[in-house]
Amino acid sequence: MRFKFTDFHVHTRDWSIDVADDGPTFEDYIKVAEKHRINVCFLDHYELYYIENDKTNPFYGGKIDDYLEEIDNFKETYDFILSGLEVEYYEDKEIQLLELMDDYRKELDFIGGSIHEWIIGYPITTKEGLTSLLEKKPIKQIIDEYFRISEKSKIVVGRNQRENEVISSLRREGDTILTVESIPGPTVLATGDLSPEEIEVATSMTVSYSDATADQSVAVRLTRDSTQWTLLARGQGKRNTRHFMI
Ligand SMILES: [Zn+2]
Repeated sequence: MRFKFTDFHVHTRDWSIDVADDGPTFEDYIKVAEKHRINVCFLDHYELYYIENDKTNPFYGGKIDDYLEEIDNFKETYDFILSGLEVEYYEDKEIQLLELMDDYRKELDFIGGSIHEWIIGYPITTKEGLTSLLEKKPIKQIIDEYFRISEKSKIVVGRNQRENEVISSLRREGDTILTVESIPGPTVLATGDLSPEEIEVATSMTVSYSDATADQSVAVRLTRDSTQWTLLARGQGKRNTRHFMI
C-alpha cells in the first residue's frame, strides 16, 4: 500500500443505510485520505436479507456491480483506495454467501465479515436493537448465542453443479466432503468435528439428495484432507430445507 496508515472500514452515505443522508461520499473520503495520507478500503454494508427483501436497500436488484464500477473508476486515478464489502453473515444463507464471495473474488480487494443481527430485527450494534433484545433475553444468553453461532457443525448440500463447485472449492482443513459414487448426486460439505451420529446424518442426507430410489442402498465417498473412505447408506426422503443444522 502507498501510505503508512490504513483504514479498511469505511462506510459511505450512498451505499450504507447507517450513514446519515448528508454523510461522506466516496469523493469526501478520498479527499481526506489523500490529505492525511491514509489508505482506504470502502467497506459498505452488504446485508443479503435486506438486499433480497427491501427495495430501498442500496444494493437491491444487483446494484453491487454499480458499486464496484464506481469504486473502480476512482481506483484509476487514486492508488490508495480499495474496494470491499462488509458482508453480514446469516446462518441460513451460507450457500448464497459462498456464491457471492466466489463470484466477486476478483473484483473485491477485501471482504469484512460481520454479525450484527443474528436475530433479524434486533441489530445489536444499535442502541434500540440491543435494548429491545435485552427486554426479551438476559445478557448472558445473548452473549452465549452470539458466539455459539460459529461453533456448530454444519452440513451444506449443493443443489446443482454450480453450488457443488462452490462447496468443493471452499472447504477447509478438517472439513468432510461427501459424494455418491455411482449415480448423480449432490456434493455435501460437513464442517467441524463430526460425531459418528453426525457422519451418519450427513451420509444419509447425501443419498437423500441424490437420484437414488427410495430404499436403495448407495455407496457414499467421504473425503477429509488426504483421507478417503466409503460408507453404505439409504436416503431419508428429500428434505424441505437444503441447509440442515445439527
Ligand atoms: Zn461497519
